[in-house]
Amino acid sequence: MNAPARDGAPRGTGATPERRAGIDGLRAYRTRPTTSGCDLSDNTNLFGVPPAAAQALRAFDVASAARYPSAANDALCAALAEYVGVRADEVVTGCGGDDVLDSALRAFGRPGARLAFAAPTFVMVEHFARTNALIPVAVPRRAGGGLDLEALLEARADMVYLCSPNNPTGDRLPTGTLERVLEATPGLVILDEAYAEYAGATVAATAPSCGRLLVARTMSKAFGLAGLRIGFGVGAAPVVAAVEKARGPYKVGAPAEAAALAALAHDREWVAARVGEAVGCRERFVRELVAAGFAPLPSEANFVLVPVADARSAGTALRARGIVVRAFEALPGIGDALRITVAPWSVLERVVAVLRDDVVPATLAGRA
Ligand SMILES: *Cc1c(COP(=O)(O)O)cnc(C)c1O
Repeated sequence: MNAPARDGAPRGTGATPERRAGIDGLRAYRTRPTTSGCDLSDNTNLFGVPPAAAQALRAFDVASAARYPSAANDALCAALAEYVGVRADEVVTGCGGDDVLDSALRAFGRPGARLAFAAPTFVMVEHFARTNALIPVAVPRRAGGGLDLEALLEARADMVYLCSPNNPTGDRLPTGTLERVLEATPGLVILDEAYAEYAGATVAATAPSCGRLLVARTMSKAFGLAGLRIGFGVGAAPVVAAVEKARGPYKVGAPAEAAALAALAHDREWVAARVGEAVGCRERFVRELVAAGFAPLPSEANFVLVPVADARSAGTALRARGIVVRAFEALPGIGDALRITVAPWSVLERVVAVLRDDVVPATLAGRA
């Protein structure tokens, strides 16, 4: 199928160039556009945008859009370092936390290295492993959803990805798990703490002292800035420097950096208050789901995983009422389940009603 030659244009040969192994088997991450006001599918902050960040966006000097932002977001690194309690050279930014994870795998994973993780976890990790020529090793969670530490260690992987609270199960790493994984893993250990603010717990401040640990964080969740794409990694200076090299320059744009700086300077109370609201709504949601016969997994994040008999039909039932959630089929140790982002109570109340009236629960006991 040769492309017709245009004046001066090279004639196409028809063949798509060879791809890196594994690329053809991957699906690009896409989301369906949602027109309803109730998108509970992506765990973003449904309680608003932090006010000082919003003001910084409105006040952004448009003329400066013709210039590059700072190459490594030095001011933002300094503010984030102060936020988590480390030095500025122990922080690297990224175009979302995704970019930090992707760059870290590229910086530390030699092609063919094995990256282990407890499945199910953040879907992008397996994807980024493959696109960086690593071998993903999914270690299934136990029946009921608990992390199987012994199996994870027995995988003897070169690198390990951990997520706490874990997406989509919502649980935090049990005490001692990180230490055991660090002892047993020769290469980089990544701890993804995208939901740290909801759990009220983070090990970011201690990451630089464990030379092989990179903690990945984001402003997409509790900070309510997902659209601006601001992620960061915390670790020992040499770890962070390697991630920055693999990442390349200019990953956080100037308006995003201005908004993030404003949020870190002035919106921390706003974030804490919205986190408090979300946690209150989450606990009420879990109670009412249990009362309706469901067995949601206990969550320390801003989402709840609800095992159901048939996730696809349950997702469709909710969608018919204008509510979009994430439907997972046959999750290891769990089975079919819906991951539902915590929203203001008026929205969750509708979700409870649809689940109670139209969706069949799958008790964990029935699946174990
Ligand atoms: C949302 C999320 C991220 C990062 O998202 P970005 O928008 O790219 O910052 C990272 N890890 C997990 C587990 C997430 O859920």
